[in-house]
Amino acid sequence: MATLAEVLNANTREGELYEKLERGFVRCFACGHCCRIPEGQIGVCKVRFNRGGELMVPWGYAAGLQCDPIEKKPFHHAYPGALAYSFGMLGCDLHCSYCQNWVTSQAIRDPRAVSAPMSVTPAEIVQDALRQGARAVVSTYNEPLITSEWAVAVFKEAKAAGLVTGYVSNGNGTPQVLEYLRPWVDLYKVDLKSFDDRHYRQLGGRLEPILSTIRALHQMGFWVEIVTLLIRGFNDSEDELKRLTEFVAGVSEDIPWHVSAFHRDYKMTDPQDTSAQDLLRAARIGKGVGLRFVYAGNLPGQVGDFENTRCPGCSELLIERFGYHVQAYRLTTRGTCPKCDVALPGRWPEKLEKQIWALPFLPRRRAFR
Ligand code: SF4
Repeated sequence: MATLAEVLNANTREGELYEKLERGFVRCFACGHCCRIPEGQIGVCKVRFNRGGELMVPWGYAAGLQCDPIEKKPFHHAYPGALAYSFGMLGCDLHCSYCQNWVTSQAIRDPRAVSAPMSVTPAEIVQDALRQGARAVVSTYNEPLITSEWAVAVFKEAKAAGLVTGYVSNGNGTPQVLEYLRPWVDLYKVDLKSFDDRHYRQLGGRLEPILSTIRALHQMGFWVEIVTLLIRGFNDSEDELKRLTEFVAGVSEDIPWHVSAFHRDYKMTDPQDTSAQDLLRAARIGKGVGLRFVYAGNLPGQVGDFENTRCPGCSELLIERFGYHVQAYRLTTRGTCPKCDVALPGRWPEKLEKQIWALPFLPRRRAFR
């Protein structure tokens, strides 16, 4: 019986995000590691490899397919209430000990991570998304940057069908991969895990490529939202949160910042689960540095107004949420406040989609675990 590595190696094709070097080496540009890979070897992500002087990349399968509210990604300023169809492959360029998608992201690296890939075409993914009423198609579950050629193939089909596209990513990008994605990706969520380079090195990365990616995404016109999973003793100090949020505000005060609650998962089982009070403290720090849209996530009903969107001009309540559920939506068809006509930054539908009301996702009336 074939091993997972053998199955994945068979589901590949030559990549586009690389250059050929001397003596059969290749340089991959899909993520900030920029691996220089000798013939017969694999990159840090363990899913891109050098075969005969060509970079082979994942192709033709999915390890996860699911339709959820777009708020779960989370995007709060893009098509509220719409359904987002998520697809994922396997592998990651980081190895976070608290990963909440480790079954897909750490495949190959960790023998306990078992998630069977299924053969699928881009057209089949898009047809399934349309069948389920999705408005958006999102690459997530594994790190999408390392499987960008496949994501772009899916997004070409998705855009032809009139769908919005998105990445849910750790943001460890390069200028080359962002240029490659720019025509095909509308929404980009970055998981900004810390503002300490030592912490990023523990996770297998570096802080600077992530910060560069966030600046570039904003300048290039992607719609960007940022998430920080708040972990006690790891990234929750006043000083670190202040520097992190000041950085985001320095790129743009209009970038939504989501701070979400950690729960014990995978190999990180020491820190206590994040409380609503922890989230509120972090959210107030974000507000204090000037961020205009701060959201405290995944503890529905426990974080007060930090689930909602208010007008930056007159503070009118524009979008009211409970968890992923949009309970009230008051923007005009032009994406402005009905009271003072200030435009809300984001990507808004020209009119309310039927599914906002017809197909709501109802979260449980308690904290998600
Ligand atoms: S995606 Fe990143 S980790 Fe994987 S081979 Fe390319 S540069 Fe290396």
